[in-house]
Amino acid sequence: MSLEDIIKDRIRENGALTVAKFMELALSHHEYGYYMKRDPFGTAGDFITAPEISQVFGEIVGAWLAHCWQEIGSPEEVALVELGAGRGTLMADILRATKNVKGFHEAISVHVVEISPVLKQKQWKALAGKHERIEWHEDISMLPELPLLLVANEFFDALPIRQFVNINGTTKERMVELSGDDLVFSPSGEQDTITESCEPALEIMRSISQHIANCGGAALIIDYGYLEGSRGDTLQAMKNHEYHDILKNIGNCDITAHVDFQELGKAVLSENVLLHKAVPQGAFLMRLGAGVRTTALCEAASGEQQQKLLSGLKRLADPSEMGELFKVMAVTSKQIKNPDGFNYV
Ligand code: SAH
Repeated sequence: MSLEDIIKDRIRENGALTVAKFMELALSHHEYGYYMKRDPFGTAGDFITAPEISQVFGEIVGAWLAHCWQEIGSPEEVALVELGAGRGTLMADILRATKNVKGFHEAISVHVVEISPVLKQKQWKALAGKHERIEWHEDISMLPELPLLLVANEFFDALPIRQFVNINGTTKERMVELSGDDLVFSPSGEQDTITESCEPALEIMRSISQHIANCGGAALIIDYGYLEGSRGDTLQAMKNHEYHDILKNIGNCDITAHVDFQELGKAVLSENVLLHKAVPQGAFLMRLGAGVRTTALCEAASGEQQQKLLSGLKRLADPSEMGELFKVMAVTSKQIKNPDGFNYV
């Protein structure tokens, strides 16, 4: 049986699915969900993420987190957390880049929140021997009550969204249903009459800011998305680095949606934390020295490696590539008034 058949049966039995339920099944159905059975990353996979493009990305994130640790007074025990760690490349780079920060590795325990068994295995291999204390958790509620140093790169875009269509002033939820034997979205709706919401993202954001309010720390959220208003229908499926029909080949394509940073920011309600509004990834990386670091790496690299480093930097920071579309937002303890990269005009 395919996931498509399972979904069709469910609809026949129980009626139409919300877009959120559909997305959740497509990505994380225990047997056939996209993330549950494969490693989707890399040039041979379906998509590639920033840490896989250049090591400089993880180095900068590591420096940012370690500096936050110093700014909250270098506590002796902190939780270094990644939400959705992919192949473990980002965490491996963070650990490598912070090795020489005095006292940091002694203070941290590493916590990875991950649902995919296949990726957990990869992460375990990638991180083997890199730190003495590494734990995996199914969800964010299992994190220890310690100051938090958290990073989430391309995590929020994978959380299930609901969609609503405005038809002549009435709002209806967009569903996935059957038309004959085919799956269809209904009501179909024009692109610009559709709005989206992502309750799981808001809930996780609330929980992160509550944790920081109680225990201190900082969180860095990096993702593709928009700063205000609505972008209409942003749901997309990717396979082999190309867009794909969302309702076809279910469970074999990555499905994501743009992150609404304004809504995410609003979920940070506590008076005991500071919200540092989203800035473009390119500006953030360049302000934190991605150019200088890339040049330094090039000096010791072969011609081919130099090309890779330079094109990697361009891909991450250039406004025409990931530099503008991707944004970086932070939530910190009140002690951290001007986190690196955000004091921005
Ligand atoms: N941060 C990594 C991977 C991003 S891809 C990088 O930058 O390369 C998204 C990751 O989030 C994958 O590891 C996926 O398995 C995980 N993931 C998706 N939904 C999740 C959920 N609800 N809970 C925990 N992990 C999730």
